[in-house]
Amino acid sequence: MLLASERAAIVEACRFMQREHLVVGTAGNVSVRVGDRVAISPSGVAYESMTAADVVVTDLAGVTVEGELQPSSELPLHLAVYEATGAGAITHNHAPASTALGLVVDEIPASHYYSAMFGGVVRVAPYATFGTDELAENVAAALTGRSGALMGNHGAITIGPTLAKALSLLPYLEYICEIQVLAMATGLPVKLVSPDLLDVAVAGMSTYGQQPTH
Ligand code: 13P
Ligand code: ZN
Repeated sequence: MLLASERAAIVEACRFMQREHLVVGTAGNVSVRVGDRVAISPSGVAYESMTAADVVVTDLAGVTVEGELQPSSELPLHLAVYEATGAGAITHNHAPASTALGLVVDEIPASHYYSAMFGGVVRVAPYATFGTDELAENVAAALTGRSGALMGNHGAITIGPTLAKALSLLPYLEYICEIQVLAMATGLPVKLVSPDLLDVAVAGMSTYGQQPTH
């Protein structure tokens, strides 16, 4: 089987999103790019029963290379994002706070310094119909210089060099949206991190955590 380990990891990623309450039903999709091949979750298949063989492998034009099922309806989005960003993996979901906040702002206000995890203030891509090239263009543009974006009237997307990295960002994206929505719900002014200090946090993120000692 082509890309066997990547396809198994995609199934695990879908189950993770479900476990973490980041998806409703099959409202999300996951892909990994290796060279000129993309492994992507199948369209509308329940995550509980999805197997690695259900994951579809396509070329960069979206033509199926291996797999019996229809690829995710968001294949054009995934292909456009790979082309625009050079990412190695993409996760997309319809998590509640991410979707709710995208209904009322054009970018996530920098209320939490975790916006820095995404390279700076996270943008909301304008709405377009799911599965369309227009949505793909809007989202690819919103991801410029960022590892995450909200999709207006739709959901959220994260990218990374690896699936582990892209997936690890999803709960943080939902978290900063939830914090912002909670703060806005008080009706009180929401304190923000200044652009200068957010830049400092962005720089700090590159050395956060355990670093190799040699
Ligand atoms: P698929 O099941 O086709 O991946 O669609 C889910 C989705 O999130 C559409 O935007
Ligand atoms: Zn979607």
